[in-house]
Amino acid sequence: MTSPASGTDTAAALLDYAPVPRSALGPALNDQGYYVGRVERNLYWVTDGSYQSAFLTTKDGVVLFDAPPSIGGNIRRAVDEIASANGVSNKVTHLIYSHHHADHSGASSLFDKNVVRIGHEETRRLLLRDNDPARPAPEETFADRRTLKIGGERIELAWRGPNHSPDNIYIHFPDHDALMLIDIVNSGWAPISIANLSEDIPGYVAAPAIALDYPWKHFMGGHVTRLGTRDDVTLHQQYMADIDASVRKALVSVDPTPFFQKYFDNPWAAVSALFEAWTDAGAAPVIEKYTGVLAAADVYTRSTVFWVMESIRLDLGFGSYVHP
Ligand SMILES: [Zn+2]
Repeated sequence: MTSPASGTDTAAALLDYAPVPRSALGPALNDQGYYVGRVERNLYWVTDGSYQSAFLTTKDGVVLFDAPPSIGGNIRRAVDEIASANGVSNKVTHLIYSHHHADHSGASSLFDKNVVRIGHEETRRLLLRDNDPARPAPEETFADRRTLKIGGERIELAWRGPNHSPDNIYIHFPDHDALMLIDIVNSGWAPISIANLSEDIPGYVAAPAIALDYPWKHFMGGHVTRLGTRDDVTLHQQYMADIDASVRKALVSVDPTPFFQKYFDNPWAAVSALFEAWTDAGAAPVIEKYTGVLAAADVYTRSTVFWVMESIRLDLGFGSYVHP
């Protein structure tokens, strides 16, 4: 039950954050709530201000890359708008999945059964397991690399190990100077909760260098309001490196002894308070450095610091103490 009074209390309890830097902002949306723009030549991107998908118009039809449900029916509208402006076919013939997550592919079922769906073999396994009618599993899969030649256009797909998810792939457009890599770098913005909700932190941290190994000028990260540049990926890399250094410092400088003395009969209370203290100490200098540089650094850095701290302890064994 929400009374007007409790609604006011809830609003009053919401925190204020630093303003979003202008550098984080992209183009305005149209009346239907989307923006479609050219990446290069016949490669286009679509956004609702929060999610991104992309498509190629070819002489044989349209190849779609992800179908986020929040953009939903506006993907069709964006394709129709561009196809009619350029006098090319608006028929979507292929849909490429970046990874299995519903927030990037939950509008897949809006496209007809004759669309050829292509994805990593792990994407297929996970979609068959999760059995969501909104996301038909890809019929065509690959293990490490696959070159697609569709309607005279070249698309290079590669799986380079787990990162954000076990099945997340690199989608390179060598003839369009563009790379699509979803849920790693949010151009102009900090990652959201726990490093963009990533399952494999060493893989997540390594991914930007793999991305930068490809030749490209335009970056599609799957989120927020604009395309990215190589500088956006480098800035994100620096942010993650600063978090790593700050966490290692916090792990050796915060003394666990008083936590276990105070909560001597409740080790979970001690561990919880110690994790909080490590996270606070690790986050503070990074929040200070990146507020005004990356949008929402003050909102989300603490959450990412916590997850990187656990990975540095558990994956890398940093600070691990062996009882004598
Ligand atoms: Zn995802």
